Amino acid sequence: MKEVNPPKKPIIFYYLLALVALLLLNAFLFPSLTRGTIKEVNYSEFLQMLRDGQVQEVQVEQDVILFVDNAEQPQIYEVGRMEDPELVDRLEEAKSQYGLEYGQVVVEEMSPLMSFLLTWVLPIVVMVLLGQLLTRLMLKKMGTGGVGGPAMTFGKSNAKVYVPSTTGIKFADVAGEDEAKEILTEIVDFLHNPQKYNSIGAKLPKGALLVGPPGTGKTLLAKAVAGEANVPFFSISGSEFVEMFVGMGAAKVRDLFKQAAEQAPCIVFIDEIDTIGKKRDGASGIGGNDEREQTLNQLLTEMDGFDTTKGVIILAATNRPESLDPALLRPGRFDRRVPVELPDLKGREDILRVHAAKVRHAPNLDFSAIARAAAGASGAELANIVNEAALRAVRQGRSEVIQSDMEESVEVVIAGYQKKNQILSDKEKLIVAYHETGHALVAALQSHSAPVHKITIIPRTSGALGYTMQVDEGDHYLMSKEELENRISTLTGGRVAEDLVFHSITTGASNDIEQATKLARAMLAQYGMSEEFGMVALQTQSNLYLGGDASLACSPETATEIDRRVIELVRRQYDKAQNLLRENMPRLHQLAKFLYEKETITGEEFMEILNQPVPKLQAPEA
Ligand code: ADP
Ligand code: MG
Ligand code: ZN
Repeated sequence: MKEVNPPKKPIIFYYLLALVALLLLNAFLFPSLTRGTIKEVNYSEFLQMLRDGQVQEVQVEQDVILFVDNAEQPQIYEVGRMEDPELVDRLEEAKSQYGLEYGQVVVEEMSPLMSFLLTWVLPIVVMVLLGQLLTRLMLKKMGTGGVGGPAMTFGKSNAKVYVPSTTGIKFADVAGEDEAKEILTEIVDFLHNPQKYNSIGAKLPKGALLVGPPGTGKTLLAKAVAGEANVPFFSISGSEFVEMFVGMGAAKVRDLFKQAAEQAPCIVFIDEIDTIGKKRDGASGIGGNDEREQTLNQLLTEMDGFDTTKGVIILAATNRPESLDPALLRPGRFDRRVPVELPDLKGREDILRVHAAKVRHAPNLDFSAIARAAAGASGAELANIVNEAALRAVRQGRSEVIQSDMEESVEVVIAGYQKKNQILSDKEKLIVAYHETGHALVAALQSHSAPVHKITIIPRTSGALGYTMQVDEGDHYLMSKEELENRISTLTGGRVAEDLVFHSITTGASNDIEQATKLARAMLAQYGMSEEFGMVALQTQSNLYLGGDASLACSPETATEIDRRVIELVRRQYDKAQNLLRENMPRLHQLAKFLYEKETITGEEFMEILNQPVPKLQAPEA
């Protein structure tokens, strides 16, 4: 937004001007009334002066004695009274000797105007100035611009307006997410050719809500809409509405929509809308959440007051749709939901390509392989993977990114950096080698599990001492019960190998245990994969896009029963893994030894060894 008001002189300027004027007036009206201040002396000095005949006039008060000397420019002195029985005699003596006068020492008062200024005007001026200063600081903190003078900008929205050319992001920059792009393209089209829609009587939704996990490109999509549409684009984050004072957030919402109405056709984008759009809960406790509720209410009111034919479209993004107030989602408000999901294999590959286009890379990069290795990564993580790869290329003094950079950076993003200086003892390294081989071998010996892609025992900054990467051939949307069970037994494989070979167990399996338990619990309580419970939902999922918190929704007895079954299920899979490894001990030793020496082995190497004839049984050497 252009600032149109001419720059105003700060208010402080006028106060200072008035103050100076008053001071001048004072000096002009009462030119001679100010005199030196009272000088304090001690009692002996006073007596000395009295004896020397320097005191001209004296006035004895209850606590002090005031006196004036006989200098050319008389000076008023003050001295504290002492217990002095001879004081009267001394004064009488001085009176008779050199004509000391008893009298009224006129301590000159300040000029009346001056004292008025000092006691009344000055404090007020100081207070007002302080207030002004604080207000200004606060406004600056809130990032509010100076439109209309600083004191009037409370409650102004700080929405940034994008003029079409400034974002430069187009739909082409957003890879994958075809469904979302389709819906948004329609909205852009509507803003450009409203008559096409109006002539049929089609009404576009007032608002579209982009929902999906973090980093999937919601904000990016909204910016692309801004880049594609030739209309003003107001962008504000939900948290910017959250204010210190009740009512200010609401005022900001009002202002935002007023500006939008003036500039229609236009798009208003509210990012992270869950910050203001959370469910209102009647009892919000002492003090309540009045501010947030008022802001939300205002938003609802504004959305109702809009008529899409005017051409204001509201976009919002969130990664916790389930926590939004239902009122926001009812028809007529954000009635269109645009799912922005984690990319699939093809999507991941496209996103990698989009970002790789921005770095110099070898022409023969196998994007498909990288995309496959980065299963589950979000767009933001994929962008990060490309960037890490570029950094690695620079670190190694190369001028372009090659395949191994990309592969290493997938691991960096997923598992953290390689820890360069972590020293594992040989014994520990051997244990880790057996642990990881255990995972890989159990996976390979079962029919329904993803092929092993890589095994490594190089410690990572994330704390993992090693890991086994399994990569699915394609995308997987359904998991069968067998696959899940095999996954659990693969997870137990690490611990099983440790136990079988070393007859002692380590802390290295904690992550495996957590994952296995989660899976087992989900199988029983969520996927209905047990005889006992059947298709009954025993646990609810919330925050689906943020990792998913599962909470039990069943009676305590059932919960106990679930716990029992979970333990049983995991134990069964543990036994299965144990049998598999026991039957293949020679393989386990062979592979673990190979891994121990090489530290990292690829899926191909792994399979090659697995396809060789079974070796003789060898025991671990360390
Ligand atoms: P969200 O708002 O969903 O949390 P962002 O839109 O902020 O995620 O995405 C963060 C970054 O991730 C983007 O700036 C972009 O670099 C990258 N990114 C995410 N999704 C995509 C995608 N579909 N195509 C290209 N880049 C993407
Ligand atoms: Mg975002
Ligand atoms: Zn493990």
